[in-house]
Amino acid sequence: MPFTAVELIETKRDGGALSRDAIEWLIRAYTDGSVADYQMSAMAMAVYLNGLNAEELAAWTGAMLHSGDVLDFSDIPAAKVDKHSTGGVGDKISIPLAPLVASVGVVVPMMSGRGLGHTGGTLDKLETIPGFTSSLDPDRFRQVLHAHGLVLAGQSATLVPADRMLYALRDATGTVPSLPLIASSIMSKKLAEGLDGLVLDVKTGSGAFMPTLEGSRELAHTMVGIGARHGVTTTALITWMGQPLGREVGNTNEIRESIDVLRGEGPEDVTELILAFGEVMLELAGIDGGRAVLTEAMESGRALQKFVDVVVAQGGDPSVIESPELLPVCAHEAVITAERDGYVTRCDARTIGSAATRLGAGRDRKEDAIDPGVGITLEAKVGDRVEVGDPLARVRFGDPARWQTHEKALTSAWTIGDSAPEPQALVIERIDSP
Ligand code: URA
Repeated sequence: MPFTAVELIETKRDGGALSRDAIEWLIRAYTDGSVADYQMSAMAMAVYLNGLNAEELAAWTGAMLHSGDVLDFSDIPAAKVDKHSTGGVGDKISIPLAPLVASVGVVVPMMSGRGLGHTGGTLDKLETIPGFTSSLDPDRFRQVLHAHGLVLAGQSATLVPADRMLYALRDATGTVPSLPLIASSIMSKKLAEGLDGLVLDVKTGSGAFMPTLEGSRELAHTMVGIGARHGVTTTALITWMGQPLGREVGNTNEIRESIDVLRGEGPEDVTELILAFGEVMLELAGIDGGRAVLTEAMESGRALQKFVDVVVAQGGDPSVIESPELLPVCAHEAVITAERDGYVTRCDARTIGSAATRLGAGRDRKEDAIDPGVGITLEAKVGDRVEVGDPLARVRFGDPARWQTHEKALTSAWTIGDSAPEPQALVIERIDSP
């Protein structure tokens, strides 16, 4: 054995750099179980505190990418294009976006993640649909993609297993908001998908893991650079995550809202972002028509039908798409109300995301099951006029004791002032492959 975990942890803890061989050994040994979870937790914290230099990040991403199968879809002539978000609150964009663009000819081999930190995860949301499985082996992944031009999967024992393990560990050890750990996590999954093009939603604002514009820009440039070096044309849009997207936060709630969006009845901000990302995906796939084509696919029902087809192909019960009220919902409801008249000037994404997570929409320990029925419906967002006593949010929860613990924190997410703030642009900046 050329290295020991303790030695490598100590090197990183003390601010040293790890060699490519050491990183490859570490990721391999973690994936095969010879490096323990507690050792990798210590390493993740050392990386969180001391970072990785450019050579270390390239080696780390490459080792994660090659921890399982790297897919090759060169037998599919159409362009393969995917989208991934750095994580936000109420960020259900991938769920309606993927079937929308697939319904107009983009081939989307999507590999997503679970809830992370205070943010929800696409896989947890999709698995709210009874029977739906996101754990596909490479053969099944390929079959679904060939049949439907779309697959909605997660890391598995054979697909980027190092990220499946490290992702869950970071979620429970306070080591999520690290630029190199986020960049390697996202890009290892995306590079394993055999893509031609990739669009990244890099969030900025309180609900983002990189809350400052400067940090978000650095993350965007880093990931676009990794994509380009691996021959995948990559575009990043930096988008606003100061308040949650849409009106729904939580797993059931976000599937319901995603269905509304696919029916053309979604909230303006979610629809706007889907069209912005859809346009870039069409551009990267070489498909003309832009927003007009996407809007037609939504209005005609083609996008929703694509979602139904893929849900069925992955074992899900399509009746919940027809009747979203069948999705699980928690028994208890509380309403947060406005304490004064005025305009909402703040509806804080991080506070709302953390409360949803702690109420059971996310995990405290990596073994925990989430409660899909925990959800927050936002009745008032930034710019809305409210009178004293008006509802700001309706909260669904299963455990009244947890609600008592987190009610005050959730209520602090709203600020009401005398005048409406200037509207905030959703898409802040675009960064393309060099
Ligand atoms: N999404 C991922 O896949 N990984 C991260 O670390 C953050 C967001």
